[in-house]
Amino acid sequence: MEFLDENLDKYVCDHSSQESELLQELNRETSAKVLRPRMLSGHLQGRVLSMLSQMIRPKRILEIGTYTGYSAICLAEGLVENGRLHTIDINEELQSMIKSYLEKAKLTDQVELHIGIALEIIPTLEEDWDMVFIDADKENYSKYYELILPKLRSGAYIIADNVLWSGKVIEDYNGLDEETKALVDYSNMVMNDDRVDNVLFPIRDGLMIARKK
Ligand code: SAH
Ligand code: CA
Repeated sequence: MEFLDENLDKYVCDHSSQESELLQELNRETSAKVLRPRMLSGHLQGRVLSMLSQMIRPKRILEIGTYTGYSAICLAEGLVENGRLHTIDINEELQSMIKSYLEKAKLTDQVELHIGIALEIIPTLEEDWDMVFIDADKENYSKYYELILPKLRSGAYIIADNVLWSGKVIEDYNGLDEETKALVDYSNMVMNDDRVDNVLFPIRDGLMIARKK
């Protein structure tokens, strides 16, 4: 499901900075070689993530769900000098493609890729996060949030993708599949958490942005 009228969506994309050549190449190679290329953030959301990161100017970014590295490269655009981004993916088959694009993007010093189960890796990372992008398995979003929130400085952000799940989140809760339920539970949890302020941005498939007080 597309939330915006096709022509309006084109107008929005036409009036948002273009993807770099490298990101276009990564987008194309992902479509050609990797399963489920729709998971890649793409032009508009990539520019949104880059813009948010440039507004936040983070020292430490955590990304959960690297896929082929598209969103990691976008998020890294806002890192301060000496800033670092840690990104986690469970799928080791993606590792060589991610690494080759991090090299082409000259980000090997700033980006650290962790291959493994995010719930196991997150507790081993000794960092205070300024910005976190949650985009892995939907069933664990709430667990990621609870693990991360104590390691967030005041004023830091947690951004969670796909919280509208093609619009399925407004269907009758009892009839929902587990993934959709988890996304509804996540948005409700953030909404009811006094430790954060939050806005659900209806961009692409929905970004829930929470800021720690
Ligand atoms: N952030 C990417 C898309 C991520 S797609 C972009 O915007 O371009 C979701 C990714 O989460 C997949 O690559 C999948 O392998 C990974 N994933 C799923 N479950 C995971 C888990 N338990 N731990 C770490 N990564 C996981
Ligand atoms: Ca996503």
